[in-house]
Amino acid sequence: MRTQRYGATTRKNLDEIRASRTKKYKCPRCKSLSMKRISAGIWECKHCGLKIASDAYSLSVSEISK
Ligand SMILES: [Zn+2]
Repeated sequence: MRTQRYGATTRKNLDEIRASRTKKYKCPRCKSLSMKRISAGIWECKHCGLKIASDAYSLSVSEISK
């Protein structure tokens, strides 16, 4: 069966975007998986309260890893 091929691809991309938006991230300070996106580009650690400005839909901690 080769039907719905393009539809499946599109859905997979959407799933990836959605997953990156809701995924939990590791806090660079307390190392707990408590980083949550609280608004576009703002991430907050529910554990220690650290706030980070980053990309709207994903978190890059490379700049603050120390
Ligand atoms: Zn933290």
